[in-house]
Amino acid sequence: MQMAEADDIILCQPDSRKGCSVCCGLFNVRDTSRKNLEEFLKDGGSREKLYRVYEEFTEPEPVRDRFSHICPYQGFLSAGKPGCLIHPLSSGIEGRDRSLFASTVCGKFLCPAHELLSSQEKSSLIKYVDDWYLYSTAIADPGSFSFIHEYCNNNCGVSRLSPVLNAGLKAHAENLMIYEGIIFFYSVPEYMMNRENFSLRFRDDFRRAAVEAMDKCHAGKI
Ligand code: SF4
Repeated sequence: MQMAEADDIILCQPDSRKGCSVCCGLFNVRDTSRKNLEEFLKDGGSREKLYRVYEEFTEPEPVRDRFSHICPYQGFLSAGKPGCLIHPLSSGIEGRDRSLFASTVCGKFLCPAHELLSSQEKSSLIKYVDDWYLYSTAIADPGSFSFIHEYCNNNCGVSRLSPVLNAGLKAHAENLMIYEGIIFFYSVPEYMMNRENFSLRFRDDFRRAAVEAMDKCHAGKI
């Protein structure tokens, strides 16, 4: 995986079709299945009304990292678009002071994917992955997205790039459900120290599953 060149591509809410709330703790729940995360995000609107401040909310159990936080104010901003429900760009007013990290920290933070993905990888992620769950999987584990992207570039023509890329991410989301440990890290050094536990360039079993899914998709079998 190459280190990213400096660019101004922001992955958080890149277009009207997709968004991300991974750093709000979305992948800190043990059950990272699409169904479970979708239900949690769908409840965001009622949590926003119910809890005046984040301390009133009891985080769902079990979690992957008990020292990390799950923000109650994440939810779907529109169909298939996770994000912050109390961000001024979504609600019209600055409401983030109700959250643990408040507007200063939330407004300035950029996750490791911004530093670790190349401009080309970020552009491909935005262009070819519209599904919020697969997009979030790529953000949480940028090294695995980089592996999938490289595999597709080496093995697929442009016409098959999108389906094969998405098939690889889908298989890796299933890998991450099997893995019980922490998936998302807030800093590059933490991610680098822990990625061998779950990332595709390090876990042979996970890589086999992803490559098999990509090969099947490329051959038109799935
Ligand atoms: S995890 Fe990264 S891409 Fe997602 S909202 Fe946070 S900073 Fe943005």
